[in-house]
Amino acid sequence: MNDDYLEVRGLTVSFDGFTAVDAVDLTLLQGRLHFLIGPNGAGKTTLVDAVTGLVPGTGLVRYRRKDLLRTKSHRIVRAGIGRTFQTATVFEGLSVLQNLDIAGGIHRPAWRMLLARRGTPAYVEEALETIGLTHLRDKPAGVLAHGQKQWLEIGMLLVQDARVMLLDEPVAGMSAEEREQTGDLLRRIGRERTIVVIEHDMEFVRSYADVVTVLHAGKVLAEGSVAEIQADPRVQEVYLGRTPDPIEETDHA
Ligand code: ADP
Ligand code: MG
Repeated sequence: MNDDYLEVRGLTVSFDGFTAVDAVDLTLLQGRLHFLIGPNGAGKTTLVDAVTGLVPGTGLVRYRRKDLLRTKSHRIVRAGIGRTFQTATVFEGLSVLQNLDIAGGIHRPAWRMLLARRGTPAYVEEALETIGLTHLRDKPAGVLAHGQKQWLEIGMLLVQDARVMLLDEPVAGMSAEEREQTGDLLRRIGRERTIVVIEHDMEFVRSYADVVTVLHAGKVLAEGSVAEIQADPRVQEVYLGRTPDPIEETDHA
């Protein structure tokens, strides 16, 4: 039995009496691309914030016997849980390589970071290759295209050896080609990791999701395969913003 999974039980996050995440249960298994969808304000980002220790929550979030709700955010990173933000957070003035090297530094003692090192560590080379940015290694991250910055962020999680990756709208603003490359990247790295992708675009979700959880007003509205989610009248009503019409057979998406 594979015990490498993230378990969320009764997760609740409130802001001044407003419940943004309301008793959410989720089981995130390794090797599956798990998508988290739902309208704006559904609580998707807040859920990831709570799992990564950026906002306090109640309930249980467990990974390898650690209760993440009682773990400080930097220790959550060290425990192998990484996330990206809706806006890329790379160091624009540093090269692609330097960004990766700094991210990888979380597993090196501080004194070693001060030593000039010859060559590039193998795991950094490997991450560069995986995210397809080897040819841009010495370019400042600031000149990267939007999609490339998101890949660099994913690379930063790879060098941190994140076993769980929570990606907040990684393909927003990407071209169709970049989306496809991202989807393929996620498939490749997702085989041995637990990956959660927040996304709006149903086309992308359809192409890559193994499991979809729909959040609405802080609650889990539905969970299942893409086909199950799309056939669910509650999802159609809430997420697609229309009342289901049983007579009509057309695919509106
Ligand atoms: P999503 O990512 O699904 O679009 P969010 O998780 O960002 O939604 O937000 C969920 C709800 O929580 C929204 O109504 C938002 O306004 C509210 N919210 C998020 N962060 C805060 C905060 N720090 N303080 C108060 N309300 C917040
Ligand atoms: Mg969000």
